[in-house]
Amino acid sequence: MLEAQSILEVAVAAPVMGVFDYRAPHTTDGPLQPGQRVRVPFGRGTRLGWLVGSKAASDLPEHRLRRVLSVLDAEPLLPPDLLRMLVWASRYYQQPLGEVLGAALPKALREGRDIAQGEMHWALSAEGRSADPDILRRAPAQLRIHAALRACAAPATAADLEVVSSNWRRALAALAARGWITAGRATAVLPIADIAPDRPPVLTADQVQAVAQINAAQGFQCFLLDGVTGSGKTEVYLRCIAQALAANRQSLVLVPEIGLTPQLLERFQRRFPVPIALLHSGLSDGERLRAFTAASDGSAAIIIGTRSAIFAPLLRPGLVIADEEHDPSYKQQEGWRYSARDLAVWRARELGVPLVLGSATPSLETIENAHSGRYTRLVLASRTGAAGQPRVSLIDLRQHAAREGLTQPLLAAIRRHLDAGGQVLIYLNRRGYAPVLMCPACGHVLECKRCDARMVLHQQRGQLACHHCGSERPVPAACPDCAGELKAVGQGTERLERALAAAFPDQQIERIDRDTTRRRGEIERRLNRVRKEEARILMGTQMLTKGHDFPRVTLVGIVDADQGLFGSDFRSAERLAQSFIQVAGRAGRAEHPGEVCLQTLFPEHPLLRVLISEGYAQFATLALEERRQAGWPPFACLALLRAEASQRPQVFSFLQAAAALAREHAPAGLNVLGPAAAPMERRAGRYRGQLLLQATSRRELQQLLPAWRAAVASIESQRRVRWSLDVDPVDLF
Ligand code: ADP
Ligand code: ZN
Repeated sequence: MLEAQSILEVAVAAPVMGVFDYRAPHTTDGPLQPGQRVRVPFGRGTRLGWLVGSKAASDLPEHRLRRVLSVLDAEPLLPPDLLRMLVWASRYYQQPLGEVLGAALPKALREGRDIAQGEMHWALSAEGRSADPDILRRAPAQLRIHAALRACAAPATAADLEVVSSNWRRALAALAARGWITAGRATAVLPIADIAPDRPPVLTADQVQAVAQINAAQGFQCFLLDGVTGSGKTEVYLRCIAQALAANRQSLVLVPEIGLTPQLLERFQRRFPVPIALLHSGLSDGERLRAFTAASDGSAAIIIGTRSAIFAPLLRPGLVIADEEHDPSYKQQEGWRYSARDLAVWRARELGVPLVLGSATPSLETIENAHSGRYTRLVLASRTGAAGQPRVSLIDLRQHAAREGLTQPLLAAIRRHLDAGGQVLIYLNRRGYAPVLMCPACGHVLECKRCDARMVLHQQRGQLACHHCGSERPVPAACPDCAGELKAVGQGTERLERALAAAFPDQQIERIDRDTTRRRGEIERRLNRVRKEEARILMGTQMLTKGHDFPRVTLVGIVDADQGLFGSDFRSAERLAQSFIQVAGRAGRAEHPGEVCLQTLFPEHPLLRVLISEGYAQFATLALEERRQAGWPPFACLALLRAEASQRPQVFSFLQAAAALAREHAPAGLNVLGPAAAPMERRAGRYRGQLLLQATSRRELQQLLPAWRAAVASIESQRRVRWSLDVDPVDLF
């Protein structure tokens, strides 16, 4: 509780660091508590803010202290654990607290609206219960409603009464007039799915071990659940959630992609007849608010969500899970650039509950944390079904010419698996028809006018599109320089689909990439056609590698294994290894043995060799050793200052000034690298540059950041650039 006589500290919803001092409002309805929203005068207007603390005196002179205008919430919107985490995160990420708090709340609350009002519901009053319904003889609708309410154990909602009588509102009003009805509002009614329950399988020995260790955790403990795809990680989550439910505790489950939530939701609903809240970016503001409220008032027993669900307030927390913890989409890439996976560690610690990080391809950071003993590693060594690990073969593109991207051995393998009744998955992580459109006569390549990038040919739409800034233009009929005929070079999924259709004219092909799944629900429709085996050839981009379960896929074909083999980012090898293992893991789940074919120009490449012959764990060991020697994370901590402007010199004069300030303040051992141009220097018509800070420890980096950020914010030229600071960047561009 905060002292109303003292000075209140308010985080204001504005892009400014620090908290502001205010005097308490003249009158309040209840006690002042951290986490309540307030309205305050700010500049010449008013702003929303959050009470975060109080103190005896302000540094400001008395006459400059302004007063809180009003308190919006009777109870704090943010529980203390969440508030503490966000205050910490604001400092760690050097992001204004008001913006951090705003990012953590549904839009409706950020805009000052009230917490969700639950649905109305009705029940019989004591009088209504003991009354003799015979006097309703002449009012059949009232009679039916009365009988229905008497029959239900829980209060009835509008939907319940609608079924009883279409005239229910009038009948209900008449009963209420007799004093027979009590009305209320549910805190936030979440439906419990009406779905056939599943029968839990008998756990494997590895699963038993994992479940026992997690369930034995006393308070906070962090687990890495390291299990190959199909080894039953989700089943382990379900068992731990069951224990949490039995103890009347909530579980928070993070998944990287919105596409994964429907599948997972159904699996959870089959197991648990309890209210489950979903939190993801596809919700309307109202739905999001309801899910937030249901988490907060405890009516949701399980909360499943993507990145921002890490901010769900929990009334009775028991367990936090982050599935596919290696997935880069846990990192927010604009505005406040937090990592939901990293915040999950803080959150679970604040809540005093166990955290489970699951993956078939854990991030190197997490593996290192397990090595050092900070996390407990739990291994699920083999798949649950009879399938075993898929057999992998390389197809050497120097020996087998590809036509339209497909070699004879790959085509033969596809035919073989289709003939045997299997499904095949063909992976190419490049959408569009072709990545390059060029003129063979003069060498002209069609490029984006606003980016340092080539235009991608989208033949079906008749457009050239830039995948970086989104600009599009019609495909020219001929070379703009020499009027020669243009040629599409390379493969995208659109072209590959056509090639597959030509090779397998009797097969339906399901292509899944961002172009074919723009419409709401489209991805689910396509996946369903695959699950029902209406389509036997499934193809597409990265979207396919994300946790979807295709029990009848027996062959995975990787069309271009060399994509990303020579990437410039220090994480490219890790990313490549992860997507390779993840897509290969789609082959041969359940009872069907699998095969993976990959086409490559570099069959001797050490990365491919290690992955194929020794597996991800060995790859990770080698990659970690390289990181250690090169001084990259997890053996270093990074912060990246990005800047962009319409003119190149503005970017560099700002970054040079920032670099000079960093060198001036830097503790020994902290490297200031750059400034340098971004790997793609011009994007959407703006020039981009960056400065990298590389420290040997978090503490060292955190020592520099607050003062340095403040100094950067007051560089004279900062007004002419757009800049942002990214602590623990996942991409160096
Ligand atoms: P993961 O999450 O590691 O990919 P899942 O939990 O989805 O693995 O399990 C893969 C498949 O194996 C699912 O169809 C699941 O129902 C099944 N499964 C999981 N555990 C067992 C078990 N102990 N016995 C039999 N089948 C299991
Ligand atoms: Zn562009």
